[in-house]
Amino acid sequence: MTFDLNRKRVWVAGHRGMVGGATVRRLKSEGCEVITAGRETVDLKRQAEVEAFLRDARPDAIIMAAAKVGGILANDTRPAEFLYDNIMIEANIIAAAHDNDVQKFLFLGSSCIYPKFASQPISEDSLLTGPLEPTNEWYAIAKIAGIKLAQAYRKQYGRDYISAMPTNLYGPGDNFDLRSSHVMPAIIRKAHEAKIQGAKNITVWGTGQPRREFLHADDCADALVFLLKNYSGDEHVNVGSGEDITILELTQLVCDVVEFRGEIIHDLTKPDGTPRKLMDANKLRSMGWAPAIALRNGIEETYSWFKENSPEAQTV
Ligand code: GDP
Repeated sequence: MTFDLNRKRVWVAGHRGMVGGATVRRLKSEGCEVITAGRETVDLKRQAEVEAFLRDARPDAIIMAAAKVGGILANDTRPAEFLYDNIMIEANIIAAAHDNDVQKFLFLGSSCIYPKFASQPISEDSLLTGPLEPTNEWYAIAKIAGIKLAQAYRKQYGRDYISAMPTNLYGPGDNFDLRSSHVMPAIIRKAHEAKIQGAKNITVWGTGQPRREFLHADDCADALVFLLKNYSGDEHVNVGSGEDITILELTQLVCDVVEFRGEIIHDLTKPDGTPRKLMDANKLRSMGWAPAIALRNGIEETYSWFKENSPEAQTV
């Protein structure tokens, strides 16, 4: 172990998001003190607020789950927000972490920041080897800058600042808003609404042929804590399930879980995005970590959560 969490103060930035929330839950069994701060306490886009917060909170470690995130359409139509917000958030937090002598810092990238046509499965060293996918290049540029910033503080100041690269995530607490969500919550919601309303079909975006890899947010949180404790290296580490399926197969699986038996229709005016982004997760596997939640079980759990907790499920 390179970093013992026992009795440490750990700030989970972005604790209200899906990954941040899962990380807070996962840290409860680590004997550390978890620090959180909502938007009303600190606006992460404002440098002075982040500096003041960290001076006061004095964490020993930070897991940076705070980010402006969204699905393919949100990325494509709100490029300024995805680039500006993410650059500001990560620059403010990393610099203030160094200034306040934070010992360990874990940054989160995303599989969508690899080149559009990276060879599959995508290994860590594919980063910056080719052009990006145009629908999310704004987010990608910001996240690549964050990985580089963590590396720069390691190189210049010897900081133990590391990065994880999670694949497409899903789970309880996800965003189910159809204009800004990722595909998994969108399909769960669409199938649920179609079933309740007795509709004959649901519409998915694009051809259904792109392949995506999915990992449950609780598995991701477990991997993040594992890396925080055990990894201290310059290169980011892929966090994935090791398996991918087509969007059509995913839709069929979700419809089966939801018990919606209608037809699947394709809206070809919407983009497909990257054809495939299966990550090579061997680096993390060889360190001794593996995911625990099978895709179907994870979808069942997420659907139950959606029905019980999401305001969208109550308004059908
Ligand atoms: P991406 O992984 O960055 O492309 O982000 P998404 O999760 O938003 O989209 C993944 C794939 O699912 C893309 O090919 C989308 O076109 C497709 N997709 C199909 N239906 C939907 C939908 O209702 N919402 C979203 N966000 N994507 C959809």
